[in-house]
Amino acid sequence: MILPRKSRLLLATRNLGKCREIQAVLADLEIQILTLLDFPTLPEVEETGATFAENARLKARYCWEQTSLPSLADDSGLAVDALGGRPGVQSARFAPSDSERVVRLLALMRPFEPPDQRKARFLCALCLVSDSGALEVEASVEGRIAANPAGEAGFGYDPIFYYPPLGRTFGQLTNAEKNAVSHRFLALQKLRAKLVE
Ligand code: IMP
Repeated sequence: MILPRKSRLLLATRNLGKCREIQAVLADLEIQILTLLDFPTLPEVEETGATFAENARLKARYCWEQTSLPSLADDSGLAVDALGGRPGVQSARFAPSDSERVVRLLALMRPFEPPDQRKARFLCALCLVSDSGALEVEASVEGRIAANPAGEAGFGYDPIFYYPPLGRTFGQLTNAEKNAVSHRFLALQKLRAKLVE
């Protein structure tokens, strides 16, 4: 699949953190990026899939069906080993707000010692659906759950995701630093490679 130059691409999300990161990584491609914020009346699709890949497929296909635009969906989240992979596909619904999600996760992690018992990874599945079919990729980044939140950058669980190679949480990284190592960046790189295949 090839996205022609100057074509439009709809990001199937209203999450500003995700939009910012995806736009930064695709900035050099000559495509016009729209988001669901440009389609305020389009209802949210229910994320009923059992995996990140299934949810990404659901969201991308729905947006493409509704708008006829090539549509790129990201489904992502945090999987913590000590919690059997939770919150996983429930990451966005683990508690009502980002700060409450962080508090709940830290409370569940209290019995677990660093570093080995606090291993976690961010996972990202991307699906691009257009008239010429579907492209799917996945990627992850390994880290561990910090004892306390640190940093104001990023979104979601970033302040408690400690990334050992840089010795800081994702919340303490600049946008450029996170965008060079994140699960979303790695998945977008794979997608780009497939787009030019
Ligand atoms: P989705 O919209 O179902 O894909 O929800 C993803 C949820 O996972 C977000 O609301 C965040 O809580 C979390 N998440 C995904 N990617 C990241 C990230 O890069 N940093 C922090 N949290 C993330």
